[in-house]
Amino acid sequence: MEETYAAAWRGLRRLRRIRFYAVVAFICGPFVMIPALELLLRFASIPTVLREAPVVVEVAFALTAGFCEWSLYKWECPRCGHVFGRLHEECKKCGLPLWSNETESREGLKD
Ligand SMILES: [Zn+2]
Repeated sequence: MEETYAAAWRGLRRLRRIRFYAVVAFICGPFVMIPALELLLRFASIPTVLREAPVVVEVAFALTAGFCEWSLYKWECPRCGHVFGRLHEECKKCGLPLWSNETESREGLKD
């Protein structure tokens, strides 16, 4: 059972990490892609379609960040299955503390 909680927390960390990288890429992307595209245009003739690539990439980063944010909002508690709450330190329904393992959550129930 402890492995279930650990796997759930790993999934939550992974989702948060992906969201973080998507937001950073969204913010930093234009500062990298636009100069790179201008440099490329100086030395080579590229199709018009590829000139729009930074816009497509930015939309992909924004959609990824938005999907991760939505998934974090809808993320379910590993103990009760209720929506955990994105900014909460414990489950709104069963009180399971964030990042707790099976043993710690049982101790919390005794109180
Ligand atoms: Zn819960």
